[in-house]
Amino acid sequence: MMLIEDKDKMVVGAELLPVMEHFYTLQGEGFHQGRAAYFIRLGGCDVGCVWCDVKDSWDSTKHPLKSVKELVEIVRSTQTKLVVITGGEPLMHNLDSLTSLLQKNGLETNIETSGSHPLSGQWNWICLSPKKFKAPLPEVMPKANELKVVIFNKSDFDWAEKYAALVSPDCKLYLQPEWDKAAQMTPLIIDYIKANPKWELSLQIHKYINVP
Ligand code: SF4
Repeated sequence: MMLIEDKDKMVVGAELLPVMEHFYTLQGEGFHQGRAAYFIRLGGCDVGCVWCDVKDSWDSTKHPLKSVKELVEIVRSTQTKLVVITGGEPLMHNLDSLTSLLQKNGLETNIETSGSHPLSGQWNWICLSPKKFKAPLPEVMPKANELKVVIFNKSDFDWAEKYAALVSPDCKLYLQPEWDKAAQMTPLIIDYIKANPKWELSLQIHKYINVP
């Protein structure tokens, strides 16, 4: 299929972004869990979560630059309808051009972000996953379609409620066990959701079915 280009831009899709990895898989987490999705993991993160499972993403200079046009062409070579931009912290980059060209090519744009940098880009779905190490910006929180809180220890339930009070009333609420603590935390999350049914469980199913 022909790439639909963004005629409004002086140089079409020439903007460069550091890409750690990109792959076609199933979305393993949250509201869109189970859907085929093309993931673009951008390099660069200054949040510093101690339990981060993608620490290699932190230094953006380690990752090759790809143009927006090249990325959209790669995505368009698959059958996917959905593109997930993740990181690292993807909002360390201006994502206006990438998301504009993806949407012009009929693709849904979802982002997974800590919300700690200003929002750029045009999004069909914003998954806000706040981190204790660098708080989300107040202006990002009401725009979230989904709040996904990673539960690492018992005190994280109170912390999750703090953010549930700051997102919009129709924002989906998910609690997700941190992968290495899943054996201890999942039973607590189940009890918590039974007592507080506004929350739902998110599991990293891609790790159970062994896909990236
Ligand atoms: S925000 Fe994400 S990429 Fe950055 S340190 Fe935390 S878990 Fe890792």
